[in-house]
Amino acid sequence: MNARAAEMRAKGVDVFNLGVGEPDFEPPQFVLDAAKRAIDEGLSSKYTAVSGIAPLKKAICAQVERTRGFAAAPEHVVVTVGAKHALFNLALVLFQAGDEVIIPAPYWVSYPEQAKMMGADPVLLPSDETTGFRIRPAELAKALSPRTKAVIFCTPSNPSGSAYSKEEMKALLDVLRPHDCWIIVDEIYSELVYDGFEHASALTIAPDLRERIILVDGVSKSYAMTGWRIGWLVGPTAVAKACDTVQGQSTTNASAVAQYAALAALTGPQDEIAKARKMFQERRDVMIDGLNALPGIKCRRPEGAFYALADCKGLIGLDHNGKRIANDEDIAMFLLDRAHVVGVPGGAFGAPGHIRFSYAASADRLRAALAAIRTAIEEARR
Ligand code: PLP
Repeated sequence: MNARAAEMRAKGVDVFNLGVGEPDFEPPQFVLDAAKRAIDEGLSSKYTAVSGIAPLKKAICAQVERTRGFAAAPEHVVVTVGAKHALFNLALVLFQAGDEVIIPAPYWVSYPEQAKMMGADPVLLPSDETTGFRIRPAELAKALSPRTKAVIFCTPSNPSGSAYSKEEMKALLDVLRPHDCWIIVDEIYSELVYDGFEHASALTIAPDLRERIILVDGVSKSYAMTGWRIGWLVGPTAVAKACDTVQGQSTTNASAVAQYAALAALTGPQDEIAKARKMFQERRDVMIDGLNALPGIKCRRPEGAFYALADCKGLIGLDHNGKRIANDEDIAMFLLDRAHVVGVPGGAFGAPGHIRFSYAASADRLRAALAAIRTAIEEARR
């Protein structure tokens, strides 16, 4: 699909790229200035400590304490090459053949793939709109086995944007309390929650489980810094130490200049995040209202992140180039060919029949993309 989109672009077609998982704006200027200063001051050309520069680790601890009420210490922290690398370190350190890793679906694509790379078996727990794309405690209890090594929660979620409330997260953690397994919480979208929703971090809700909880976070999404590649994990000392060891034999430290940029992001004024939150909330409403006004498409209004996971099963059966649309891949191809809109087929995330649209684009672009989808559907229905 990407190849087809690139081909279309090369021919001058205006393609709406709603497939991307990154903000469409720049980080705050003071972040870019801090990076330039780090270069000018000769701070960026040498190796740093594998697990990150001390001031950044300190800033991460302060942020975790401020946002989650957990007084993390630098020995709990490893700075990584993006949050994905934190998850990969954890998979390397924690998973092996024979282990089961419980992953609520729809899921971010790397969770099951990383588990499989280590020889572990992903155990996918389905959920859909009826529970707001959230798994229920009884389902989690049923999935646990003596082989369960870890559970991976992503809240707010990529791809659904759904987030667990405090009560919901507490009920899930209560199920896990008696079971000896790791609890990995990917909270990379925690700053991007809307309508006053309060992010529910496992670290806040279950202080007694902190010896088993590992937080994954980073600057990629909330500070619009995907290209800088800075993430981190905050976990029990032994886990952080093991991750430091494997990272010492793979990437060594994350880029020094990027670490200084991330330090500025965390310690500088935080009002840009509030602005981003407000903007994304407006875009979310444009996107969700627009999708729900389209024939054959339904979409739940998510609490956070910048994705709309739309149920597009109503488009199955329509004609596309003389062929019957049969699944979400056909739907995505139809949207690309006829509306010039890139969306990601939900099957990739364990949500068949759905398309994930990113709304990290201006409201005007979103409106234009929605209008193009409407025209495409109306033509196909004729
Ligand atoms: N976790 C989730 C849920 C994501 O959506 C992403 C990126 O799309 C990541 C982790 C990886 O973030 P990073 O770009 O910092 O590696």
